[in-house]
Amino acid sequence: MEESERERRRELLMRAAIATDECRKCAIGYERRNNVYGEGDPCARLMVVGEGPGETEDELGRPFVGRAGQLLDRMLAAIELPRADVYICNTVKCRPTAAGLSGPRNRAPEPQEMENCRSFLDEQIEIVAPEVILALGAPAAKSFLGRDFQITKMRGRWYVGPRDTPLMVTFHPAYILRQTGGEIEAVKRMVWDDLKAVRTKLDETPPPSVTLSNEEEALQASLFE
Ligand code: SF4
Repeated sequence: MEESERERRRELLMRAAIATDECRKCAIGYERRNNVYGEGDPCARLMVVGEGPGETEDELGRPFVGRAGQLLDRMLAAIELPRADVYICNTVKCRPTAAGLSGPRNRAPEPQEMENCRSFLDEQIEIVAPEVILALGAPAAKSFLGRDFQITKMRGRWYVGPRDTPLMVTFHPAYILRQTGGEIEAVKRMVWDDLKAVRTKLDETPPPSVTLSNEEEALQASLFE
């Protein structure tokens, strides 16, 4: 990709981020500390879309920088995609919260909030024009595929996303971190399968990028350490 094109897209994204910063369509727009627009390579081949910013993201104004973000970085590294090469954002740009005993706690975005924020997400997809979208978690999947989407039954296959972009759904890293006992191995295996499918899809289109080595077992084992 030409560097001038990267700069052009970066400029467009910066301008779009200013608009979201000024937006107060939802109540959470008044409650959040920072607007979390998104970050990454403006020419990324892969766009990762999560549900919404959490507490750390709200504090820092960056997506996926808490514990779940660290796991996401390892997931991407396992398919040989450095975080800097990916574009990462969420369905909503403001942190959805609910009252908790010791202050506001994270919650999933409401359908109306995702609808309000959808034009911003669509604009990001239009500018970055990724080759593949990876939706993390049920709310992000539902924002693309409708309210009836059931992640446990319907993840792990290809769908058609905005701009006819191939769309894969997998579990949110925060969900993976919450798993305990026997469930965790099954969830890890499913996520690994989904990540491999993303890598394969990217490798199908030229220019050929790095191919997976024969060390998949080792990568899978180290993925969630
Ligand atoms: S979540 Fe999106 S639509 Fe709602 S106030 Fe924030 S930027 Fe605006």
